[in-house]
Amino acid sequence: NLSSKLEQAFKTLKGQGRITDINVAQTVKEIRKALIDADVNYKVAKTVTDSILKEAIGREVLIAVKPGELLTKIVYDHLTSLMGGEKTDISLKGDPAVVLIAGLQGSGKTTFSGKLASHIKKQNKNVLLVACDIYRPAAIDQLKVLGEQVGVEVYSEPENKDAVTIAKNAIAYAKANNKKVVIVDTAGRLAVDEQMMKEIAAVKQAIQPSETLFVVDSMTGQDAVNTAKTFNERLDFDGVVLTKLDGDTRGGAALSIKSEVNKPIKFVGNGEKMDALDAFYPDRMAQRILGMGDVLSLVERAQMVFDEEEAKRINQKLRKNQFDFNDFLSQLEQVKKMGDMKDLVSMIPGVGKALKDVDINEDAFKPIVAMIQSMTPQERANPDMINGSRRKRIAAGSGVQIQQVNNLMKHFEELRKMMKMMNNVKEGKMKMPNMK
Ligand code: GDP
Ligand code: MG
Repeated sequence: NLSSKLEQAFKTLKGQGRITDINVAQTVKEIRKALIDADVNYKVAKTVTDSILKEAIGREVLIAVKPGELLTKIVYDHLTSLMGGEKTDISLKGDPAVVLIAGLQGSGKTTFSGKLASHIKKQNKNVLLVACDIYRPAAIDQLKVLGEQVGVEVYSEPENKDAVTIAKNAIAYAKANNKKVVIVDTAGRLAVDEQMMKEIAAVKQAIQPSETLFVVDSMTGQDAVNTAKTFNERLDFDGVVLTKLDGDTRGGAALSIKSEVNKPIKFVGNGEKMDALDAFYPDRMAQRILGMGDVLSLVERAQMVFDEEEAKRINQKLRKNQFDFNDFLSQLEQVKKMGDMKDLVSMIPGVGKALKDVDINEDAFKPIVAMIQSMTPQERANPDMINGSRRKRIAAGSGVQIQQVNNLMKHFEELRKMMKMMNNVKEGKMKMPNMK
């Protein structure tokens, strides 16, 4: 499935220590395959990954963030904006405001109608549910049971076989009874058919809803896109409700529906109970589709902590081989700013490698900071001048063994060598081999 495929793709990236080892084109190809496997429409998957590739190429990478993690962030940002960026609310204009619910049979229309009624009622609005499913006698009862559960009145005409007049009568009833929001639940078929389309279009025409919502089962995969297209052509709906996200779907349908019909997804259904309704958050859905909350928060924390200017300054100094203990100390301060240091420490320019084998916790930093603080300003700026007698003085001043000072010097030296090497290789740029 998508999750494990992506995990695999990103694992490959994550394992790469060196920026130059990463073949981004290959990874992007894997991402495309994974999206398609998760029922994201081929065209959509291609568009997304093409733009990801474009954005990734030549992108300046902070040494602080591994390219694989940055790529994850790029993918995530793309998916998020593709799915609408911000969350979108439904429009409740008119007196009463009318909401029309459409979709295939079994998609979750009636369940959603109940949930929405409950949701709106909690905003202290007087709601009326309308049973316009005239084909299944049980449908009216189902809505009545839900209405009772959430404390919302249900309008129905069991003998009437014309959805349009039922809907019209319901609106008149709402006006006469001070209902502010009318939710019209309609009939669906197992597949799109012409009669159903005509009927729902006629209902829409007759009651002029301020919001028409298309309900779709997130488990239906590629079919979901086709159904959405057909309904949109006939109804020009305002938003999508994605149900059954409590199942094991990754929600690829969200991405392709949004891209193919360009209508916002407004709600998601997370269960059969009446409170299992959530607003749709594009960023959360992107995270779900990618299944990578961890990496993401890692990158975000790193970006929060590292200011780009500081990273540039450090890179400059590294290039000129001027990285000194002042820089080391400032980088160390950045490490301390972060929460989970074990995860993050390897991302820090300068400090990560030097502390690789140290048990990282607050206490581990104390002697290091103490040693650096026991250095004179000249010593910090010119680490090469720290000879034996100066080391002895630093050890005494910071209350550590001379061994520890020697270790620090050794690590620092290794670090400088390594940084110099890295900068010789690619000067802080992500290098993409085999790119057309
Ligand atoms: P309708 O034919 O479109 O009105 O669909 P229903 O509202 O009757 O729902 C069909 C089935 O899906 C019912 O068994 C519902 O309990 C179930 N269902 C609806 N929404 C959800 C959801 O978000 N999660 C889960 N797990 N089941 C749902
Ligand atoms: Mg129903």
